[in-house]
Amino acid sequence: MLEVTGIKRGIVIDHISSGKGLKIFQKLNLDKMNTPVVLLINVSSNRLGRKDIIKIQEHIDVDLTMLGLIDQNITVNIIEDEKIVEKVKINIPKKVIGLFTCKNPRCITTIDECAKPEFTLIPNGKIQYQCSYCEELTEYKL
Ligand SMILES: [Zn+2]
Repeated sequence: MLEVTGIKRGIVIDHISSGKGLKIFQKLNLDKMNTPVVLLINVSSNRLGRKDIIKIQEHIDVDLTMLGLIDQNITVNIIEDEKIVEKVKINIPKKVIGLFTCKNPRCITTIDECAKPEFTLIPNGKIQYQCSYCEELTEYKL
């Protein structure tokens, strides 16, 4: 398998479902970073068959809510001296502010730019969020 040098210090976003790596790369604005970032696509994985990995050679604040929306299989590893010092588990976020828009065209948050949409997860098998302004359900899609 393709070996890629480990990083000394930084963040490894691992176990990304194959095909979602690029989306995450874009959503986290990693193309605008001044530090080396590696995106690996279709790496062999025991758990997932194929997976994507992102390595960032710096400690940045990764938007865990955004990651949770895109893919709940992800593990975020914090690397210090080439060792994993912390593993952050990703969960489906229960509350989301901003990250996507309400699907109701008459909702105040789609009309007024200043009103930030706020959503609460409705656990019903799908990943659906209820808008706190108009109560419309919106399913998050990439
Ligand atoms: Zn709404």
